[in-house]
Amino acid sequence: MLRRTKILATLGPATDKPGVLEGMFAAGLDVVRLNFSHGSAQDHINRANMVRELSKKTKRRVGILADLQGPKIRIERFAETKVWLDEGQNFALDINFDPKMGDNTQVAISYEPLANEVKPGSRLLLDDGRIVLDVVNVVNMRVNCVVVVGGYLSNNKGINLLGGGLSAAALTDKDKEDIKTVAQIDCDYVAVSFPRCAEDLNEARRLLEAEGCYAGIVSKVERAEAIVHDVLDEIILASDAVMVARGDLGVEIGDARLPAVQKYIIQRARTLDRLAITATQMMESMIDNPIPTRAEVCDVANAVFDGTDAIMLSAETASGKYPIKAIESMSRICLEAEKEDSVRVSKHRMEMEFERVDEAIAMSAMYMANHTKMRGIVALTESGSTPLWMSRISSGIPIFAFSSQEKTLNKVTLFRGVFPVRFDCDKQDHAEVNREIVAILRARKQCVNGDRFIITKGDLQGIEGGTSALKVVTIGEGLTP
Ligand code: PGA
Ligand code: MN
Repeated sequence: MLRRTKILATLGPATDKPGVLEGMFAAGLDVVRLNFSHGSAQDHINRANMVRELSKKTKRRVGILADLQGPKIRIERFAETKVWLDEGQNFALDINFDPKMGDNTQVAISYEPLANEVKPGSRLLLDDGRIVLDVVNVVNMRVNCVVVVGGYLSNNKGINLLGGGLSAAALTDKDKEDIKTVAQIDCDYVAVSFPRCAEDLNEARRLLEAEGCYAGIVSKVERAEAIVHDVLDEIILASDAVMVARGDLGVEIGDARLPAVQKYIIQRARTLDRLAITATQMMESMIDNPIPTRAEVCDVANAVFDGTDAIMLSAETASGKYPIKAIESMSRICLEAEKEDSVRVSKHRMEMEFERVDEAIAMSAMYMANHTKMRGIVALTESGSTPLWMSRISSGIPIFAFSSQEKTLNKVTLFRGVFPVRFDCDKQDHAEVNREIVAILRARKQCVNGDRFIITKGDLQGIEGGTSALKVVTIGEGLTP
């Protein structure tokens, strides 16, 4: 069975080891995430090249998402990678300290405004809240704290201020510099961290386009300010996808609100014809263990029930012990969850009127597929909008996006239930085109005689928005071979 929910995995030192990326491809990787909070531009370029090469070699198309660091306050580095902090001890964050020489009494930070944005009593949460510090005082840009919750603290971990209220704009100077690397790699998606409004996303899009890159924009919803109804809709509409960035969001709004907010964000994204990614700690225990906890199994399945397009792995793959097993486990859980009726049927948009013919065809195809025995849907597409509309409707029927456009094929790697198929066909006769489509489905072992497929297409001239026809073919009969 084809898995509909897409797996997005972060690359890092653990996936650079020989054979690991190959194993991840074989386990069902759909999209990789290059995390610009860590590593050099060259690291990201090398990893992107590896992904592209393996995509060619294995014929498994894997998309590339670049994740910009954004105005995240991070600690710098420790002389010995990580330190242990005891509850009650003093610990300082210092802008002027050597960025590589942290120890168990102090560490450098690079975010200058921090010293002005905290005051005695402010609570700082480090590493998604694992470590808690209370500010005692600020002396010469040095933030002196007392440890409230201790534990291990390692290089470059994030810092949040309880209750939110970062003043910085979403795109930092580093992000603007990184956008050049992103354009050089020609990533398929770019994630903007901590956006506050649509303008943050428009700016990212403008900067990318100025570099000749037309990547899809992913908004990471991770600020308390961003989940207010109108602001959220505005952010979603300015983006191609939203990420439920549960790490930072959970710190800013409190973890108990996350489950309901996750459902709400995913539902709004689907309603507004945008994609949704569910991220952070989905398989957290697999950083060290070969099997997930029951809670993690349920979390992955629940994200599938919520309607997410993709589920994301962070440290589990970037620096964990079992990157391949983490993907295998996710895949297995999704496949099982996708058998549930609740994610295969849809009452969506039954009351709606459609202004566009192509959108109406997409909706009709889904209605027909869900209510008759169809083996699959083939959407001939230039821009990817037909399969995007189709994939917003809950269904168990696979949608094959046939396109000659590399960029479109790479983008659909993130769409739930949509599978990219390269299709270069210059035939002008519909029957011949249908025959060629069926031959490809056969070669990919996606059909047997008697299976019925819906094919949607336009007038075959390769123009966007031209889908105007819905055709049903039965494999092995009539015009099909
Ligand atoms: P991050 O984003 O991993 O870059 O912090 C995801 C999150 O905040 O959950
Ligand atoms: Mn984050």
